[in-house]
Amino acid sequence: MQRFDVVIVGAGHGGAQAAIALRQHGFEGSIAMIGEEPELPYERPPLSKDYLAGEKAFERMLIRPADFWADKAVTMMPSRRVVAVDGAAHVVTDAAGESLVYGQLIWAAGGAARRLSCPGADLAGQHKVRTHADVLALKAELETVRQVAIVGGGYIGLETAAVLAKRGISVTVLEAMPRLLARVTGPEIGNFYAEVHLAAGVVVRTGVSVVGLEGIAGRVSGVQLEGGETVPADLVIVGIGIVPDVAPLLAAGAESASGGVMVDEFCRTAVPDVLAIGDLAAHANGYAGGAVIRLESVQNANDMATTAARLITGQPQPYKAVPWFWSNQYDLRLQTVGLSMGHDMTVLRGAPDNRAFSLIYLKQGRVVALDCVNAVKDYVQGKALVERGLVIDPALLVDTAVPLKSLLPA
Ligand code: FAD
Repeated sequence: MQRFDVVIVGAGHGGAQAAIALRQHGFEGSIAMIGEEPELPYERPPLSKDYLAGEKAFERMLIRPADFWADKAVTMMPSRRVVAVDGAAHVVTDAAGESLVYGQLIWAAGGAARRLSCPGADLAGQHKVRTHADVLALKAELETVRQVAIVGGGYIGLETAAVLAKRGISVTVLEAMPRLLARVTGPEIGNFYAEVHLAAGVVVRTGVSVVGLEGIAGRVSGVQLEGGETVPADLVIVGIGIVPDVAPLLAAGAESASGGVMVDEFCRTAVPDVLAIGDLAAHANGYAGGAVIRLESVQNANDMATTAARLITGQPQPYKAVPWFWSNQYDLRLQTVGLSMGHDMTVLRGAPDNRAFSLIYLKQGRVVALDCVNAVKDYVQGKALVERGLVIDPALLVDTAVPLKSLLPA
C-alpha cells in the first residue's frame, strides 16, 4: 500500500489550498490529493457566472497551472472517490478498492448538489450547477431550450437566472421561501434582487412549493406547484443547496453537526489525525456568536485550509477569519462581509435605485455584517468595523458622506 504523510481528499478549493499552504509553511513530507472529478483543482464560482456565460475559458479557472502540482511534489489522483476511512489503521479506500495509508488526513470533499425528491425527479432535462461536468452538460442543452425553470432562489439559482436571461431565454425562478436570498440576506437585498430580475424579464415566484416534475417521453416538460399549477419548462435547473460529503468520516467516528462534520478551532475532527475543512466543516464561529455553523464560501475553504496546514506544520493558529462572499448578477457585484444572523437592526446606506448601496446589519449596536451592492469602498472599509465588532451610531452609518473608515477609532 502506498503511504503519504498527508492525504487530502477532495481536489476543490479547500483541498488545493491545503496543499499550497502546506508547502508555503515549509512542509517537506509527501502529499497526495485524491479527487472525484477528472479536472485539476479549479475555481467553482465562475461556473454560475462568466464560465456559464461563455466569457471565461476553463483553463483560466484552474487554481494553479498543471505544472505547479508536480513542481510542489503534490501527487494528484483525479477521478477517484474515497468511500471508506479506517481511522485506526490510517487508511483511505476508494470506490475501486485501492487503498492509501496516511499520516494525516485532510477531508475537503465539499458536498453534492441536493436533488429534488419529488415525483418526476428522475426525468431527463434536469441540471445542477456544482461541477465543470454539470455546466458542460447544461451548456450543451441551452442551445435548444426556450423555457427554463430554476428551482431555488439562492445565489446559484439567481446567478444562473441572470446569465440565461441575458441570453434571451425565458426563465422562471421558483423559491419556497417568501422572498429571494432569504437564508443569507435581509429583505432589502432580497427584494432589490427580485426587482432587478423582474426588470430583466425573469419571472420570480416566491412562496411556492415544488411538488413534482411533469414529463413527455422521459423528458421534463413542467414543474408542478402545490395547489395544482404547472409551470412549463423544457429544462429545469435545481439550485437548492448541498449535501456535505461526509459519510465515510462519520462512519469512521467523526461527530455529525449541521449536516456536516464537527471540527474544533484547528479543524480537527474527533478522529485522531483527521482534519476536515471547507463546506462540510461545522464549527463554532465567533462571528455567529459562537453558534455551530457551516460556511459555503471560497474564503472559508481557503482559510480553513491554511489553519489545517499550520497545525500540521507545527505553527497552530485557531480559525478566526471574518467571513466574506461575493455574487455577480448582471452589472451588479454583491460583496458581503460578516454574518447577519441574529441581527436586530439594519441600516440602509445609499439608494437601491442608484444600484449602489449597502445594507449594514447591527446586533445590540455592533456592526456584525454588511451586504454591499456595487459599493466596494463600503465593503473594504466596513470589514474592519465587523472584525472589531464596533458599536457605531446608525446616523453615521447611514450618511454616505461619511466614509466608513472614518468611523474606526484612531
Ligand atoms: P469543493 O470546492 O466543492 O471541493 C470538493 C471536491 O471534493 C470536489 O471536487 C468533489 O468532487 C470532491 N469529492 C467529494 N467527495 C469526494 C470523495 N469521497 N472522494 C474524493 N473526492 C471527493 N463561493 C464564494 O465564496 N463566492 C462565490 O461567488 C461562489 N460561487 C459559487 C458558484 C457555484 C456554481 C458553486 C457550485 C459554488 C460557489 N461558491 C462560491 C461556493 C464555493 O465554490 C465553495 O464554498 C467551495 O468550493 C468549497 O470548497 P471545498 O473545498 O469545501 O469543496
